Amino acid sequence: MVGERMPGRGDGTAFDPEALKEDILGLGAKAAAVISVNSISFDTAFRDMCASNVCGNYGKNHMCPPNVGEIDDLIREAKTCSRALVYQTVGLLEDSYDFEGMMEAGKLHNDLVQKVRDLFDKTCGKKALHLGAGGCRICPVCAGKTGEPCRFPDRAIPSLEAYGINVSELAAQCGMRYINGENTVTYFGAVLFR
Ligand code: SF4
Repeated sequence: MVGERMPGRGDGTAFDPEALKEDILGLGAKAAAVISVNSISFDTAFRDMCASNVCGNYGKNHMCPPNVGEIDDLIREAKTCSRALVYQTVGLLEDSYDFEGMMEAGKLHNDLVQKVRDLFDKTCGKKALHLGAGGCRICPVCAGKTGEPCRFPDRAIPSLEAYGINVSELAAQCGMRYINGENTVTYFGAVLFR
């Protein structure tokens, strides 16, 4: 899943993660931080939580388990990266039952994840692993649901949890709040790079 370097884009020699962090904040993230991947807590138990299929995406989304790959392999892949730029978005809800508001905030977050990918490719061009929140939502209905191949394999985004990352601990490590108050929904994303 760590994308190959693309010709004609940044060669990474002048890449400044702190500058990218400021760009991400400028795009609407509430907070962003650069941390060492060594400090991230990975836990294979997250796979069991996905398998309980509370969200209904298990086996139905190409970027969700089990389709996304074996958890040990994904953790190993993530650990080949040295640093992570972690960011969060916070959406406002009418009330705690505002499902539409949660979906809209999730869409805005995923849009930001794609913008971060484009910015990273433009400014760095190194290999990177982009992770988002929940299953990939690029297509209204994931091709995994109908047994077809992924329509946008170069842009599909797996979640932090699919890679075994403990997001509540990640938030604390980044000095961010995991929950941002009543009638809000918080989503996390990250780009891991070498
Ligand atoms: S790009 Fe579309 S088909 Fe591929 S994982 Fe995402 S939602 Fe599914």
